[in-house]
Amino acid sequence: MNSDAIKKLKSLDKDVLWHPFTAMKEYQGEEPLIIERGEGSCLFDIEGNRYLDGISSLWVTVHGHRKREIDEAVKAQIDRIAHSTLLGLSNVPAVQLSEKLLAIAPKNLRKVFYSDSGSTAVEIAIKMAFQYFGNRNNVGAGPRACPPPGRPQGAAPTKTKFVTLENAYHGDTIGSVSVGGIDLFHSIYRPLLFDSYKIPRFDLAWAENLLHEKQGEIAAVIVEPLIQAAAGMILQPPGFLRGLRALTRKYNILLIVDEVATGFGRTGRMFACDHEGIEPDLLCLAKGITGGYLPLAATLSTQEVFDGFYADYEELKTFFHGHTYTGNPLACAAAIANLEVFEKERTVEKLQKKIAVLTDLLVPLAEHPHVKEIRQLGMMVGIELVKDRKKGRDYPLEERIGHKVTLAARKRGVVIRPLGSVIVLMPPLSVTEEECKILARVVFQAIDEVCK
Ligand SMILES: *Cc1c(COP(=O)(O)O)cnc(C)c1O
Repeated sequence: MNSDAIKKLKSLDKDVLWHPFTAMKEYQGEEPLIIERGEGSCLFDIEGNRYLDGISSLWVTVHGHRKREIDEAVKAQIDRIAHSTLLGLSNVPAVQLSEKLLAIAPKNLRKVFYSDSGSTAVEIAIKMAFQYFGNRNNVGAGPRACPPPGRPQGAAPTKTKFVTLENAYHGDTIGSVSVGGIDLFHSIYRPLLFDSYKIPRFDLAWAENLLHEKQGEIAAVIVEPLIQAAAGMILQPPGFLRGLRALTRKYNILLIVDEVATGFGRTGRMFACDHEGIEPDLLCLAKGITGGYLPLAATLSTQEVFDGFYADYEELKTFFHGHTYTGNPLACAAAIANLEVFEKERTVEKLQKKIAVLTDLLVPLAEHPHVKEIRQLGMMVGIELVKDRKKGRDYPLEERIGHKVTLAARKRGVVIRPLGSVIVLMPPLSVTEEECKILARVVFQAIDEVCK
């Protein structure tokens, strides 16, 4: 790209684009980084500079950029058809992918419902859980006006509440924000949200009290398994997920597991559920599902939940939900190729050594005077920075310490993105040991440069 074209793109970026989760006033004062292409673990900007993709392009890239098998699958699908609807019709890749997903997911899951982002996968799980109990009580959409004999007039679904965790993040649409718990992103929208119960401090005893007392009104508990990624890579105590599974079973409440961030190998197992051997009632998948190629999400359900909607049309128990691009063939073709690479390359097996290497590389960083704690699960790492470790003083929000470290790392050829004062590392699963070393070294230097 010549220098005029580069200049033009950079100025247009500031003129016409509104970036997500970005303070635009500050952004416009900074030099934009515009990516033109990628290769393996690397990104290249319009000036030809190379960067290590330290966050898998926001937690999605799995086998690297321009993975030959996925490129070819998408191209082959393009030669057949790019899109056809799943509303009343079907398409080849959507069917084939469903079979493949169910083969690797927890064994109790039997049905796949597609959408296009993590937020919609969660939104769907919430609506399914709510309607499932409504349908079971015969409170369908239409017949509510005319309840069956013996039902009190105007009966409403009773199990309408959701339970979530402190610091939960499940996406940005109104329903998923309603079960979110990160004040910085969520409190502004409070008047638009429905109320949900929040389990504090991973306290299972507290959760049991709540579920016992409110079992008649709670439809589901929703949880990010093992690690709350967006909250700053907060690790749960071992057994917590299994404990929630036991409690929800005991009180006839559904368990929704949100593996949008953790799914597809990121934690060192195909799914985080596998670490604790649990089976959710509803499972939300997105981010890594296409290997980071195209927007696709899936909500997997049990036969039991599905059966709650299985009725003659006039009972109106249908799940009245569907996004226009649901089950898009191109995205499904990419996802199939992604899963085939997992099998062919034994990605999860080979990951174990890289995880150990990454852990070792981070040891010296833990000694840094401005590092409070390093938290890691598989290829997900959070490095929490602190202004004064001895006095336990955190960096104030306005210091934007994480952002400054990001800019310092960028100068050195590494792309990362922080969560407040937590530096996130989440390289593609295909990252090499050599690239892990570069990542750790650059992040160390960047923290050193910025934190005083
Ligand atoms: C990213 C994320 C979401 C939201 O996914 P989008 O594709 O950004 O809508 C939901 N849940 C978890 C756990 C996530 O990490």
